[in-house]
Amino acid sequence: MPYDLTLHHHYTILGETAAYFIDKPEYQVDIFDGGVLNYLKKEYIQKLLNRYDYLIILSYVHNTHSAIRAAQICKEITPNTNIIAYGPSCYYVPQFFGKPIFDAYIWAGDPELGIESFIKYKEKLIDEKELSGVVVNSRGYKAKPKYLEPDLWAFPPLKELPLNGYDRIISNKKTIRKFGKRQISLTVSRGCPFNCEYCFATQMYGGKERRRPVDKTIKYIKDNKEYFNAIQMFSPNFTYDKKWVREFCQQLIKENIKFSWRCTTRITLLDEEIVKIMANAGCKSVGIGIESLQEDIQQEIHKVQSTHQVIKTIKMLKKVGINAKCYIMLGLPGQTKKDVLKTIKLIKDSGGEVRPSSYSPYHLLTKKSTLSEVSAMNRYTYKINSVEGLASVEYLKIIFNRDFNINED
Ligand code: SF4
Repeated sequence: MPYDLTLHHHYTILGETAAYFIDKPEYQVDIFDGGVLNYLKKEYIQKLLNRYDYLIILSYVHNTHSAIRAAQICKEITPNTNIIAYGPSCYYVPQFFGKPIFDAYIWAGDPELGIESFIKYKEKLIDEKELSGVVVNSRGYKAKPKYLEPDLWAFPPLKELPLNGYDRIISNKKTIRKFGKRQISLTVSRGCPFNCEYCFATQMYGGKERRRPVDKTIKYIKDNKEYFNAIQMFSPNFTYDKKWVREFCQQLIKENIKFSWRCTTRITLLDEEIVKIMANAGCKSVGIGIESLQEDIQQEIHKVQSTHQVIKTIKMLKKVGINAKCYIMLGLPGQTKKDVLKTIKLIKDSGGEVRPSSYSPYHLLTKKSTLSEVSAMNRYTYKINSVEGLASVEYLKIIFNRDFNINED
């Protein structure tokens, strides 16, 4: 099933995990980005004829069924290949990653550590107690998660990733292309202390934020400048560590390193001083999670933000030339058409860009959820009839066409 989320997850959770192994001489790695590049099934089978020792499958919630199918095909062709799954669906719906199809899956912690620990375990280099964040299906053993020092995180392997294929995906996305023809993404930090119930950042990567060293990040950017025009800095809350942000921006300015970049954060983590230095260092857009400006809905999802502060933040960003990309959700509990239109209007009137998606309550998935319930959890199309008064066509027009000219009645 084609991957239809934003590409920056892919550079990070797929690319950086692969790079961790590519960078080590003891591993030989092939990347096959079947979801994004729409390979034919026969091309996947041809690839499997290489008889891999390990097949490591990244699985997102809404395409869990594709991960299962890919694993089934591999088990039929090369039954001795060890199959390991990782990604959000292993956390939310682990019931699909048991034996006999999968040999192991990563349930928490940094995935590269978990995958490597399982490989070492299978190769008899470590014993069970040294495993990390992995469930070994043959033993029913669940290892405690561990976290990798940020200094050891790999960077996206731009020579190995199918960049031309990715370019085709964003070629008609005006909202992304306005920041640069070739955009890549790299992880700045992992872990989030806020633990919003509809997001997996805290559960997967822990509640403590961890960050790459500034000097390594700058070096990677300098060494790879020929491959990109823009970067999405992948961080749950980019401005959580303001000292890091200041140092990073000052370094970019000092060394005259010019490129456009984007990030996401919370409105409470922005102030005039930090947005100014970010703008001077090339930041063009900041994504902020607004979700809804209706107070009872905010309370329901445990994310209360005052409308006054939201408007102030959007204007503050605009003043220094940074686009305020405001994420809103459709289908939140108790939401009405009136709330959706009011939230959109307030953001637009303040000069922000509205970025809508569907509320996908992954946390409501259980071990009893069926594959079709799991597949329905799509960030764009989940419960298109769930907003009172908003027709499904209007819902989809808002999400896909960013058409906000919806009649209030
Ligand atoms: S603050 Fe953002 S990254 Fe952190 S848990 Fe909430 S939605 Fe996820």
